[in-house]
Amino acid sequence: MAASIIDGRAIAKKVRAEVAEEVERFKKVHGYPPGLAVIIVGDDPASRVYVGSKKRMCEALGIYSEEYALPASTTQEELIGTIRNLNNNKKIHGILVQLPLPDHLDEGEVLETIDPRKDVDGFHPISVGNFVVGKEAFVPCTPLGVLRLIKETGIEIKGKKAVVVGRSNIVGKPAAMLLLANHATVTICHSRTEGLPGVCREADILVAAIGRPEMLDGSYIKPGAVVIDVGVNEVGRTEEGKRILVGDVKFDEAKEIASHITPVPGGVGPMTIAMLMRNTMDAAWRQAGKGGCGCSCK
Ligand code: NDP
Repeated sequence: MAASIIDGRAIAKKVRAEVAEEVERFKKVHGYPPGLAVIIVGDDPASRVYVGSKKRMCEALGIYSEEYALPASTTQEELIGTIRNLNNNKKIHGILVQLPLPDHLDEGEVLETIDPRKDVDGFHPISVGNFVVGKEAFVPCTPLGVLRLIKETGIEIKGKKAVVVGRSNIVGKPAAMLLLANHATVTICHSRTEGLPGVCREADILVAAIGRPEMLDGSYIKPGAVVIDVGVNEVGRTEEGKRILVGDVKFDEAKEIASHITPVPGGVGPMTIAMLMRNTMDAAWRQAGKGGCGCSCK
């Protein structure tokens, strides 16, 4: 039987509705909205599109936002100065620096300048460390989206074998840590993993975060597995110039074997911004002295 398609657009909409409701509750209690600042350096067209959609999403949910569009010539000192000002800005609860940064800027130092209480992308080493030891911390948005999608299938994660292919700090590692925190038995694979198809075929939950178009075909999938495809790979353009995207999983083959599967596009992609809004909301609660939203949304 063909797999159920996990509808990331619909689930992201649900997350946004939850956050919008909470924003209203927060405003009633505190008299001001949660605030997010987004910093972009240079004029990379894709980054501009992402920043634009983050701003529009904030507006739609009632979150206050500030955008800092800095020229490509911005120095390290200027960028760090902007972040320090935002660290002290009471209207701002979350700070996001759009990556990648121009080559002359030191990304590590920039990310470490963000106050960990405002680190809604979850990239600060303090956030990573707190998360790994099980303390309250921000977790990167895409893996949070992955977890939410798995939870929405209704399958129990506890005790399941999960395999994550990819070990980046942004997706693979935090996705694996989230599954571990939810009591899965987790294997992390990467480019040097031997016997990858066999390892993947053991997985009740398979997360692909590789960046290789349709690399995982049907031979990697265990019958009945939940398959989450994080990959976004452009394989061409339509006549109208629209990007043709595929994931890391060969969808047509995998959907005949899996029990649940995410499409690309329309799976993990829409979740990332929704989870950024979720993290911004949590940042505002925490800074206002309330420990998160207290709901079971994650
Ligand atoms: P990275 O390039 O940082 O990491 C890719 C990982 O895949 C690495 O750990 C690499 O292993 C591993 N890998 C590469 N080739 C193979 C192979 N042949 N066999 C096994 N493992 C392999 O990518 P990201 O984690 O940043 O992103 C992964 C994908 O997710 C990309 O397609 C990206 O576009 C997409 N993405 C989607 C997002 C969304 O919102 N939907 C957000 C972020 C990313 P090694 O470490 O050994 O090099």
